[in-house]
Amino acid sequence: MTNLAPSASIQMVDLRKQYLRIKNEIDTAIEKVLLSTAFIQGKEVQDFSQDLKQYTGAGYVIPCANGTDALQIAMMALGLQPGDEVILPVHTYVATAEVLALLHLKPVFADVDSQHFTLDVKQIENKITAKTKAIVPVHLYGQCADMEAILVIAKKHNLYVIEDVAQALGAVYTFSNGDKKQAGTMGDIGTTSFFPSKNLGCYGDGGAMFTNDATLAEKLKMIANHGQKIKYHHESIGVNSRLDTLQAAILQVKLKYLPEYEKARQAVAAYYDASLASISQIKIPVRSKTSTHVFHQYTLRIANGKRNALKKFLEERGIPTMIYYPVPLHFQKAYQQEQFGKGSFPVTEQLSEEVISLPIHTEMTENELHYITQAIKEFFSNGK
Ligand SMILES: *Cc1c(COP(=O)(O)O)cnc(C)c1O
Repeated sequence: MTNLAPSASIQMVDLRKQYLRIKNEIDTAIEKVLLSTAFIQGKEVQDFSQDLKQYTGAGYVIPCANGTDALQIAMMALGLQPGDEVILPVHTYVATAEVLALLHLKPVFADVDSQHFTLDVKQIENKITAKTKAIVPVHLYGQCADMEAILVIAKKHNLYVIEDVAQALGAVYTFSNGDKKQAGTMGDIGTTSFFPSKNLGCYGDGGAMFTNDATLAEKLKMIANHGQKIKYHHESIGVNSRLDTLQAAILQVKLKYLPEYEKARQAVAAYYDASLASISQIKIPVRSKTSTHVFHQYTLRIANGKRNALKKFLEERGIPTMIYYPVPLHFQKAYQQEQFGKGSFPVTEQLSEEVISLPIHTEMTENELHYITQAIKEFFSNGK
């Protein structure tokens, strides 16, 4: 029955198949933690941090409980005060704005570049005021924002840079002098997430922070652990945000496979590119000239208001798709600001109506890719 449509098995991300391929190693690592009972701050947490430091080239890696906490702890460690302004892209996941609001900092939205979906550097400088303290570039969908330009602006105006690397762990940015650096290691602090569906995902929540500054590393570590360096001696207000030993043990195994996982995602992207590039109503992802793309998402733009019809058409054929993100932050009830009505951030608003992300993961088969791309071709050839 080889010509049966594979639709029943198509998923945005197939974590089960991925687990089964490395089951023995994972199960052994988990059992080791279970038998040690060192569930909090066990040896694996330190070991994984070391491995990740090696992998990313970051000076320091500080693990924590999730990517949202990582952002919050970063803002706290930089000593940002209520009322301070932080510039961030309006086309992003809510976590970035959420932590600013929680700390009574002011999120200052900027639009994104229509080609790469990352912070539009031309918009940054006219958002800077006397209260601006930091810029948060988000390396959306898997490639780095224009870091060289962002770092120049930050230096000129004495601003911190916090990179949100949750979708781009492993992406490599090349500076104009030829220097290459990994996402998260270029700004003052980088933050990432090990949410199960991220490129390096654990089996629950997890996160980490990167920095090259020893003093900042100390502060990040202290804040993540109730503001204490010595148990029961609290130097600053902190939070309880730790990476579980079990998750660290799982991540230690999976990190070894990250380069292979990255290649698998890039192969899926290349297949999609080749099959879909010629369809005039589709805009395939634009590759940055300065960053590799680790394809956390493979995101198309669909012109002429056909995005939702395509989504429905694919759904009826058992092909899941996702919209990242359907409602821009400035239209979210929790983050509305009076001055930003419709048309305030035209690129982001247009993206929210045009983007669609296709299934992409480390276990996709050519059969599945063929089925998905044929269905997309069928949709457009029917003059829909
Ligand atoms: C997933 C994600 C986060 C949050 O990570 P959690 O671990 O879910 O808290 C933050 N920023 C971006 C861009 C993300 O994609």
